[in-house]
Amino acid sequence: MPLVTTRQLLDEAAKGGYGVGAFNVNDMEQIQAIMWAAKETNSPVIIQASRGARKFAEDNYLYHLMLAAAELNPEIPLAMHLDHGNSFETCESAIKLGFTSVMMDGSLKPDGKTPASFEENVAVTKQVVDYAHEHGISVEGEIGVLGGIEDGHGAGGSGLDHVTDPDQAVEFAERTGVDSLAIAIGTSHGAYKFTKKPDGSVLKMDLLIAIHKRLPNTHLVMHGSSSVPKDLQDVINQYGGKLKETWGVPVEEIQLGIKNGVRKINVDTDNRLAITGAIRKVLFETPEKFDPRDYLTPARAAMQKVVALRMTQFGQAGHASDYKATSIADMAKGYKSGSLVTKPLVAK
Ligand SMILES: [Zn+2]
Repeated sequence: MPLVTTRQLLDEAAKGGYGVGAFNVNDMEQIQAIMWAAKETNSPVIIQASRGARKFAEDNYLYHLMLAAAELNPEIPLAMHLDHGNSFETCESAIKLGFTSVMMDGSLKPDGKTPASFEENVAVTKQVVDYAHEHGISVEGEIGVLGGIEDGHGAGGSGLDHVTDPDQAVEFAERTGVDSLAIAIGTSHGAYKFTKKPDGSVLKMDLLIAIHKRLPNTHLVMHGSSSVPKDLQDVINQYGGKLKETWGVPVEEIQLGIKNGVRKINVDTDNRLAITGAIRKVLFETPEKFDPRDYLTPARAAMQKVVALRMTQFGQAGHASDYKATSIADMAKGYKSGSLVTKPLVAK
């Protein structure tokens, strides 16, 4: 299947009542792990790259690896998404390269660190939406500010510092016309999300449900949603690693989110943990080895296992062949004619 937009994937997910994992990549092995998991579970999938990933992999390598993924897996609906674009120019360059979906994170100023005002966020996000929709590309916005820092992006601090205000979420969705909306409900980027198993005081699922009630037609996005399972932490520490004890977002909370409008779930840390644990194990047990394939092969398999499990847990498994790709040109026509315009507000 050619690369499709996240808008199409998320519209289909809403119809089917499931969520779609969006997995971050920097290199070929990660892309292969995700595509093999998608094939294994017959799942539509979003592969995303941050600014840091684009720099690490170089845009052209990344784009052509994604084309290879689409070519080799014609049966899998696959979107290529920019994670946390920091400015109009970053989103524009991603669209020109061939990304089918971008996130404009206007919750922060272009430095990727300082919280922006609501009006600044609306202005830059609307600018990206106008440009992207003209080109048939979908846009994710963010309202409220997530905690933590990843790839040098983030305001730092607790996920509770700037949780999303439901009234602002409604106004933001109406004024920008975003296809999907990332909200801040207490989650953070990185491995250190919570210092104990999260309860309602730190992970605000009630807030998510309130926002979904106000915006029933807007696809919600959960960032920082790795579950950081203990078994993956243990492998790293067993083979010489030094991770401090930490908790992520429990899968059952994500599943509650999916019942309440969450259609895209961002997962990065769990895959990083799986890869690192597998590499550490090989190097620890067989220190004489030096062929990168000796540790990259099990690392890739460990990531595939995590991704396939999440695909099953999010409900996207089995849905790859439900629909055919809508071309980017037809998406552009849909935005122009108004047939793809989201009517955000139903309930006051
Ligand atoms: Zn994020």
